[in-house]
Amino acid sequence: MNGVKTKICSSCEAYFKCGDISTENKCWYNDFPPIFSLSEGSDCLCPNCFKEACEDKIDAYLETMTAQKAINNKAQFLPKTNLLIEGIDYYLENGNYVFKAWFHLKRGKCCNNNCRHCPYRG
Ligand SMILES: [Zn+2]
Repeated sequence: MNGVKTKICSSCEAYFKCGDISTENKCWYNDFPPIFSLSEGSDCLCPNCFKEACEDKIDAYLETMTAQKAINNKAQFLPKTNLLIEGIDYYLENGNYVFKAWFHLKRGKCCNNNCRHCPYRG
């Protein structure tokens, strides 16, 4: 089974491939947090533009975040994944990983390590 289709990105007009290569090898789309519904048009974005759209959406979500909301935030109920995406879960600073608030929100609680982007402190 090969469900890969070639599509054109609705944002940058680049050609890209999308779809499940096999049952074990899912579309790249599955690597990203499932924060979009297809009705939002995310189906037609290439991996680069989709990642940007993800970052924008997460940034907008984080802007509404307060220490109180963080305790019951929606991100912690997303399917668990060990995959970390640069720009979404972390960024690199002088070769060090700095975890972003999104990463902490997915955990669902404060780890008390004084993380720089801890969303659980007011
Ligand atoms: Zn694109």
